[in-house]
Amino acid sequence: MVARHDQTTDPVLLDGLLQARRGTAFFARKLNELTDAELDGDSLLPGWSRRHVVAHVGYNARAVARLVEWAATGVETPMYPSVEIRNHEIDFGATLSPIALRNLFDHSAVHLNVEWRDLPADNWHHKVKTVQGRTVPAEETVWMRTREVWVHAVDLDNGATFNDIPAPVLERLLTDITGAWHTRGTDSGLLIKVDGTDLSFGDTTAAAPTVVSGSLAAITQWATGRGADGTTAQRGGEPITPAPPAPKWI
Ligand code: ZN
Repeated sequence: MVARHDQTTDPVLLDGLLQARRGTAFFARKLNELTDAELDGDSLLPGWSRRHVVAHVGYNARAVARLVEWAATGVETPMYPSVEIRNHEIDFGATLSPIALRNLFDHSAVHLNVEWRDLPADNWHHKVKTVQGRTVPAEETVWMRTREVWVHAVDLDNGATFNDIPAPVLERLLTDITGAWHTRGTDSGLLIKVDGTDLSFGDTTAAAPTVVSGSLAAITQWATGRGADGTTAQRGGEPITPAPPAPKWI
């Protein structure tokens, strides 16, 4: 008899699973609002149609599920055999019929959710490897999926915005991105401030930084490379319009 509820009782993990499931439902809603013909339209991602986004999000669920299966069985199963195969798979998926594309998203999301639900509490700590080669506990798969579904729902470009993304997701995303900049040293002289909060990211010790500020949603959108709408920038009191492009994230 398979359990019908999560095996983990860790409140932080359960909260993370809730954000991933909400994000999946949100992506599903935006996808369902698109007609089959509209799937052919452009997404916000350069060179990608909406079809590419849907195919990518579907194959991503399968790839993340492979990591959860790895944590469950101890048998090493990478997300993707190679980056080339991952990219080829997305190009292929984008050619699927609308019904097949929608099924890919639905079925892969359900499968991933079952893998999460049935993963024994202890196995959540088992180590797996991401496509970037990072070794992480299986718990990390929840966040990996969460940011995909929320951000790519915006990329469908049919009405979702970063304002729809829950604040804790935005804050973690911004922390991830600015952390990646810091690791690469690309945040030098760049200070990021979130309006109405004490939150600041980037080069917080620079003497004369370029300061980019805006709402948490606007700043995070800018940081992901999706435009400077809603942000303001200045250096030494002199406005910079528009804000300079954010350093590369991925
Ligand atoms: Zn993605």
